[in-house]
Amino acid sequence: MTKMNAAMFYAPKDVRFERIDVPSPGPGELLVKIGAALTCGTDIKTYERGHPAIIKKVPSTFGHEFSGQVVGVGEGVTQFKEGDRVCTCNAVPCGECYYCKIGHRNLCEDLLILNGAYAEYIVIPARMVKHNVYKIPDHMTFQEAAVSEPLGTAIHCIRHAGIRQGDTVAVLGSGPLGLMISRLAHLQGARVILSGEITEERKRVASEFGVNEFINILEVTEPKDRIQMVKDLTDGGRGVDVAIEAAGFPQAWEEAIQMIRKAGTVVFHGGCKAGTTITVDTHAMHYFEHKLIGVFHQDPDDYRRSVNLLASRLVDGRKFITDTMPLSQLITAFERIRRFEGIKFAIDPTVM
Ligand SMILES: [Zn+2]
Ligand SMILES: [Zn+2]
Repeated sequence: MTKMNAAMFYAPKDVRFERIDVPSPGPGELLVKIGAALTCGTDIKTYERGHPAIIKKVPSTFGHEFSGQVVGVGEGVTQFKEGDRVCTCNAVPCGECYYCKIGHRNLCEDLLILNGAYAEYIVIPARMVKHNVYKIPDHMTFQEAAVSEPLGTAIHCIRHAGIRQGDTVAVLGSGPLGLMISRLAHLQGARVILSGEITEERKRVASEFGVNEFINILEVTEPKDRIQMVKDLTDGGRGVDVAIEAAGFPQAWEEAIQMIRKAGTVVFHGGCKAGTTITVDTHAMHYFEHKLIGVFHQDPDDYRRSVNLLASRLVDGRKFITDTMPLSQLITAFERIRRFEGIKFAIDPTVM
């Protein structure tokens, strides 16, 4: 059996780099040689504190944003062949449970989740091959194709925001998702205010993406000052039409609510720690008709749109990749992200 490099998750803060067997594809499955695997905030959180849904047993392969080349085709697969360059979403719904049937496939009760992007090879399960794998065009790099998974969640988020041309939208959070959401809001015709840790690199990318105004929370540290700044940037100081939270902190959720105008909308995209709560002003909620919307994950249609947006480069996936690092430097890449030293890193699994 041939061996490959892989990152193995044993426990929080315990990821080991090992040589394991190259998996082989069963019926309906694809064996893919990883072309690019990207760091993601979810993987960093998993590294730091584990993840009950993503890591069900240990040791486990690790990493979920990737693209690559088909090198093995399982029995019965007709739509893909060896040599195809492909990308896939890391999860696929069952299509049969109650929530799938009523049109909320993102909330599927039997989501199939794939891990193992931080390795040289990965097997894509049959259900995923059927519904969530796409060939990528020649002009598209593996790295930008790997952005398709997080961008799909940003598309899912924007679908719920109801943005109209000429709206002003505040985005809270300047990580990869905040940047993607800002880009999509811009493409919807909105003027975008981005509030977050604004480093030089993020500012450059966000400006290219069409962000109009910045609030750097490293400098403006008081939420009430940021809320006022956002309001001052809107007509009559009324507040923004839409605020989108993409930071994942309860304080930011509360801040977002206070930035919107009457009848405005808040979309909560950033997942907070389990058990946390926020306080909502019932008076404002009632008399100002605030619309507060939670969003989670994506469905296969969001993912399909994401691949199209990247292929057209209306969203330029290349701009999210700060640098490439060898597999053995995965944790260093996580630490650099935590220090805001990059947006995403591409991990090269061939180098240990
Ligand atoms: Zn991700
Ligand atoms: Zn389902």
